[in-house]
Amino acid sequence: MTILEEPIKEVLELKNYINGEWVESKGEIKDVVNPANGKTIARVPISTKDEVDAAVKAAQEAFPEWRRTTPLARSRCLFRLKELLEENFEEVSRIQTQEHGKTIDESRGETRRGIENVEVACGIPTLMQGYFSEDIASGIDEWVIPTPLGVFGIIGPFNFPFMIPLWSAPYAVATGNCVVIKPSSEVPNSQIRLTELVDEAGFPPGVWNVVNGGRAVVNGMLEHPNIVGIAFVGSTPTARDVIYPRCGATGKRVIAQGGAKNFMVVMPDTNVSATIPSLMTSFFGNAGQRCLSGAVLIIVGEDDGFYNSFMDAVTEMTSRIVIGYGLDESVQMGPLRDKEKKERILGYIESGIREGAKLRLDGRGKVKIVGDYPETCFLGPTIFENVTPDMKIGSEEIFGPVMSVMRAKNLEEAIEIANANPFGNGHAIFTSSGKNAREFQYRITSGNVGINIGIVAPMAFFPFSGMKDSFFGTLHTQGQEAVRFFTESKVVIQRWL
Ligand code: NAD
Repeated sequence: MTILEEPIKEVLELKNYINGEWVESKGEIKDVVNPANGKTIARVPISTKDEVDAAVKAAQEAFPEWRRTTPLARSRCLFRLKELLEENFEEVSRIQTQEHGKTIDESRGETRRGIENVEVACGIPTLMQGYFSEDIASGIDEWVIPTPLGVFGIIGPFNFPFMIPLWSAPYAVATGNCVVIKPSSEVPNSQIRLTELVDEAGFPPGVWNVVNGGRAVVNGMLEHPNIVGIAFVGSTPTARDVIYPRCGATGKRVIAQGGAKNFMVVMPDTNVSATIPSLMTSFFGNAGQRCLSGAVLIIVGEDDGFYNSFMDAVTEMTSRIVIGYGLDESVQMGPLRDKEKKERILGYIESGIREGAKLRLDGRGKVKIVGDYPETCFLGPTIFENVTPDMKIGSEEIFGPVMSVMRAKNLEEAIEIANANPFGNGHAIFTSSGKNAREFQYRITSGNVGINIGIVAPMAFFPFSGMKDSFFGTLHTQGQEAVRFFTESKVVIQRWL
């Protein structure tokens, strides 16, 4: 067992980044604790509304000059940021593991996906080209200019603290807007390190601002008349009940990506040896704290032999998952982010037992952890069988390493079960039949669809989609859709006199 060197060696006193300066906050201070070993690694301010106002003012003042900066020159700042991120790739990844708990490989994957969004946004000179029609009437031409709008707020969740703000921020600034970012206060360190690199990359002061904190910062953004739009990723109650309606009420553009309950449908014709490893990362990767994690496994068909042998293999492989501190490269699953999240998941496990599901693998209590760490935030993978769609564990987002297994007579019934769930984020089918795969992708009400893939994470040049209670808005984060979200199509008509 070798533990990689921790990048954060002494407790960091975090600041806000406003107008190109690191500024101390007047808000109260909260500890950021490494969930694996319980050590405090940073102290983060819970900033006030006044501090949001200062960041918005700086962004607003930077906007006129930044929007006049050519797209080519703006993209050069992003190219420099990309180079700096590559140079600091390992450090940024280790910070994520140290403060979030995910394994180092998961953190490296997150860093890579974040950088890919910077790379795509570097193509802004072509991505934000307009279009032109000659002679819409005799001697009259018409064209569209994609135009930046001003200051955008970007709000992130705790589970991908480095990557998710990068689904939006590079496109926002590439198109000529300025941003105020609020990282999750539970895990702010990788955003702070990213911001140090933004500073080094040479963005003009005020273009990229970061205000740490919680609800007061979000409310400050939602109420601010000079914030023209919000790109939010988090849970459904926050997306649906706070962000989306309040942006609507104040006329702000909005992307509000919410939570999930993803159904993995296994057909009897699937390639079993390729399917099971994919299900392992889907259900238990990131300790189940992914909006694209598998939550419900539906095994299709009435063949008990297939069901039993498949579940034996799933259980066997699950029970071999190595649990420990993510900076140990042999570890396959780290702790949950904090003990409150663990308590919440334990509540779901108890409800599953109460509602009559069969506990096939119990991750509570007797978790074998590699190394000498407190059990506080660790929870082993758990499998329930005989789950029905009306049980809490069959319908609600658990956001932890819990697999709920259902059976369906046929594909028709499996699709009906998945579609009846209010969420629609990342359902998947495992099959060797093209006809089944086509039917599934055609009828399933989920924004991202996997065919023989358990985690349907769209690449940076595709939109990060979502349907039903998983997404509120019109355009999505990432790629071309983000470029459209962050620009207005200005239409010009000219008669040549
Ligand atoms: P959360 O909704 O609790 O918090 C998200 C952000 O909103 C945080 O920055 C938080 O400070 C702020 N916030 C929370 N409650 C608020 C309130 N009442 N008023 C104003 N601001 C508030 O989400 P989380 O626990 O940080 O993240 C996990 C959730 O995010 C899960 O539900 C997961 O499925 C979802 N998620 C979705 C996607 C996606 O692309 N659809 C991606 C990642 C995570």
